[in-house]
Amino acid sequence: LSNENNTMIAGNELAGKLFHHLLVNSEQGINALHYLQQRGFTNEMINTFSIGYAPDSWETLVNFFEKRNVPLDLMEKVGLLSKRDFDGKLFDRFRNRVIFPIWNKEGKVIGFGGRVLGNEQPKYLNSADSIIFNKSTIVYGLHIARPEMRKKNEAVLFEGYVDVISAWQAGVKNGVATLGTALTNEQAKLIRRNAETVIICYDSDNAGLKATYRAISILEANNCYVKVARLPEGYDPDDYIQKKGSEKFRSEVLIANQTTMAFKMGFLRKGRNLQNEGERMKYIEDVLLEITKLSNAIERDHYTRQLAEEFSLSLDALKQELYRIYKIGK
Ligand code: ATP
Ligand code: MN
Ligand code: MN
Ligand code: MN
Repeated sequence: LSNENNTMIAGNELAGKLFHHLLVNSEQGINALHYLQQRGFTNEMINTFSIGYAPDSWETLVNFFEKRNVPLDLMEKVGLLSKRDFDGKLFDRFRNRVIFPIWNKEGKVIGFGGRVLGNEQPKYLNSADSIIFNKSTIVYGLHIARPEMRKKNEAVLFEGYVDVISAWQAGVKNGVATLGTALTNEQAKLIRRNAETVIICYDSDNAGLKATYRAISILEANNCYVKVARLPEGYDPDDYIQKKGSEKFRSEVLIANQTTMAFKMGFLRKGRNLQNEGERMKYIEDVLLEITKLSNAIERDHYTRQLAEEFSLSLDALKQELYRIYKIGK
């Protein structure tokens, strides 16, 4: 690591400590602390994930870094400070936000996610991509989840910081997240290095379901054994835990997971009226296409039979069609 990288990380580490201190020990942090408590955050969660607060001020960090001789230009590079256009004056970029530190594999702070306390937009502000912070290669919470991931040979993949933290408090200690971006190959590889089975537990809204669909193929391409959590529509994992409790989350959402094929069939069914012949045929074709992608012959047979049964079709016809689709795909 170059000197510059080390300084950037050191600055992030210092800022993380300041934010955390301001949240838990200062008058300025009271509103943020109440906000978190209202959302069900315990002290244990706040401490384990070093959650912090960036005050409603333009120069708290600027002054803090100046006093400690941290080079301001580097703190601008990592996205903690911004430069005012007309006179080049630096100011704090994160203001009046709850702060979630983001760590590298070694557990060093390399960036932050900052959440507004209300419903303003943008809801989250993240550190800028830099030499030390590349969103597409970061797996949030990895250094905390790693021991349990290794022990269980399993990871739970979430969408957001809050989901990881909430699940952790609910006893699910092998949870990690991508930072609101689509899962990348690099992230899949990082996960696979620590666990073979991955349970995807994204938000159960349209965006989350689509992202699940894409994550399945990326994880499978990286030799993960993938399952999909069973989160009722409209919930995200944290909502579910707050409303239904930890016990139910573990048993009915995670343990009661579904196969990727079952998930895909549910997904392909959504918004389609299977009473309508045309839509029904389209659905059957889509499912057959997914079946051709299965590498396991027993699984292919299982789902083909299931389809034949559900729609009273001849197994022969389905197998012929399966073969035709398979050849087109070649
Ligand atoms: P909360 O429960 O606090 O509302 P969430 O995790 O449910 O947060 P989502 O809207 O589901 O929030 O987004 C999931 C993740 O996507 C967030 O944790 C964050 O990393 C990222 N994200 C969301 N909105 C933005 C944004 N406007 N800019 C950058 N990243 C974002
Ligand atoms: Mn979401
Ligand atoms: Mn969410
Ligand atoms: Mn949420």
